[in-house]
Amino acid sequence: MIKEDTLKKVLYIDLSKKKFWIEERDDLFSQFIGGTGVAIKLLHENCKYDTDPLSSDNPIIISIGPLNGLFPIASKTVALFKSPHTGNLGESHAGGRSAIAIRMAGYGAIVIKGKSERPCYIAIHGDRVYFKDATTLWGLEEGVSAASLIRRQESGAGLRTIMRIGPAGEKMITYACVTLETYRHFGRLGLGAVFGSKNLKAVVVSGKRDLKVNDFKGYKECYSNLLKQLAESDKMKKYHELGTPANVMPLSFSKGIPMKNLTISELEGLENISGESFAEKHLGRRVACSHCPVACIHLGALRKPYEDEPYFYRTVYLSYDYELIYALGTMLGVASPEGVLRLIEVVEDMGLDAISTGVVLAWSTEAFEKGLINEKMTEGVIPQWGDVDAYSQLINKIVFSEGEFFKDLGKGIDYASSKYGGKEFALTYGKNEMPGYHTGYGAHIGYLFGARHSHLDSAGYAIDKEAMIKSFDEEQFAEKIITEEYWRQILSSLVICFFGREIYTPQIILQCLKLTGFDLDEKRLTEIGKEIYAEKYRFKIKCGFDVDNIELPQRIFELPSGTGKLNKDFAEKIIGKLKEKIKSLL
Ligand code: SF4
Repeated sequence: MIKEDTLKKVLYIDLSKKKFWIEERDDLFSQFIGGTGVAIKLLHENCKYDTDPLSSDNPIIISIGPLNGLFPIASKTVALFKSPHTGNLGESHAGGRSAIAIRMAGYGAIVIKGKSERPCYIAIHGDRVYFKDATTLWGLEEGVSAASLIRRQESGAGLRTIMRIGPAGEKMITYACVTLETYRHFGRLGLGAVFGSKNLKAVVVSGKRDLKVNDFKGYKECYSNLLKQLAESDKMKKYHELGTPANVMPLSFSKGIPMKNLTISELEGLENISGESFAEKHLGRRVACSHCPVACIHLGALRKPYEDEPYFYRTVYLSYDYELIYALGTMLGVASPEGVLRLIEVVEDMGLDAISTGVVLAWSTEAFEKGLINEKMTEGVIPQWGDVDAYSQLINKIVFSEGEFFKDLGKGIDYASSKYGGKEFALTYGKNEMPGYHTGYGAHIGYLFGARHSHLDSAGYAIDKEAMIKSFDEEQFAEKIITEEYWRQILSSLVICFFGREIYTPQIILQCLKLTGFDLDEKRLTEIGKEIYAEKYRFKIKCGFDVDNIELPQRIFELPSGTGKLNKDFAEKIIGKLKEKIKSLL
């Protein structure tokens, strides 16, 4: 048990009325633990299913769980909303200092409703909530400048998080992100656009509470054991040393990393953007989310000359990982680390989701090559594989141009390809752009059925890795995908970073939960995971998502994957099994 625990307090904020209030929601936290479990219930309660995602009625739910602030690598925060990108469930996870700041401020969840008349930001300092004018911060070209101004104005450095949007969020690009602590993001599905639609530039949270456990001896033992495992595990060492970019070369050998919109399997110079090459030549330093001993966040140094002073440089630090190297590197035929870092910088400045942006640019390049779009529509910029300057200009235009084509690109490629053609090479799943794994059935069908259409839903690439040495039938594939997704609902309700998933076994989780006042067993834990997944699907379906009307992109069947050429009939069989499983849940 935690003494005087405030986890069950939900802070409600109404931006329209500039009011806030707190409710004790023991009912939700006792049943659904925290994080994504509590957030999906709050989303059902606070969001009308037919609401326009960019209207004032779309709530933002931010939540944490019982392990945050107490156990190592339990460092994440969950955000749920109705996604302007897909029109149904929006879910993003982010680290930084957010989870600890919210816990120390005294809340388990924050619900933001309504719309401010003028640009504003919310500052939550413990039990005080301030609505601050952000008119002068709105329209700044680089999101980071707004962050540094807010940093100077607000107290609470250290245990403080600043979640803010850039120009893309203000312009309501449907895949705009929210950036935290410069290097972390609520990346996918357009939370940035929802902030923008509310005239909400940022949310600052800080707190000074303490967390005191009743059973200190038990807590210390459990904590030390976890810390030891995290410090000694080879996998964690890999995340620390090279980070997820360690996967670039292995995935390229097996043809599992998508290149040039999945048209080729080999890219000249790929070794230059491998994890090893980035670490040797560009790694500036590593940083960590609060309360994480792993420190997997790799910052690459980009030296930039001043335009009018040829021998003067400034160094910019940019966080890179596997997904960014895929989306802004291999997917665009960019094989130079400087090129990847330059594109990361533009995406960061704009405040966009890097994965969606890269896939949008890749689709545009192929659509241009095929004559579906022309130079007039792209306002004179020619998208070409490997052309970093052209891609930088296009990213700027997606955010700032008033041209019809760029406005359409700002809604993602499901929308753009419906209007301009090229559906067969539009790499989207349930309207969300493809993550960086062309490894086999597990990955692609995992994206299609994942509640948020992300590689993080069920890590299908790991199932494909198993399938390299063992063959699975359709039932086994479907069962593995859905079982992993059930379990991840528990991890994201606690809220543990998925990188720690092998250390946090069900037994360890039950032990941690007991120390925080939850008396559960493994069976109940599995049932809760299943119920959360079902609640997410109920939300999606009520918003119009049709499980009978989703399909895999045709392109994935044309180029061999990490586990060979994919067979459409077999993929359909797995899809059939998953549909049955989902329908039986509802
Ligand atoms: S492993 Fe990386 S992403 Fe996960 S909590 Fe630690 S620093 Fe953050």
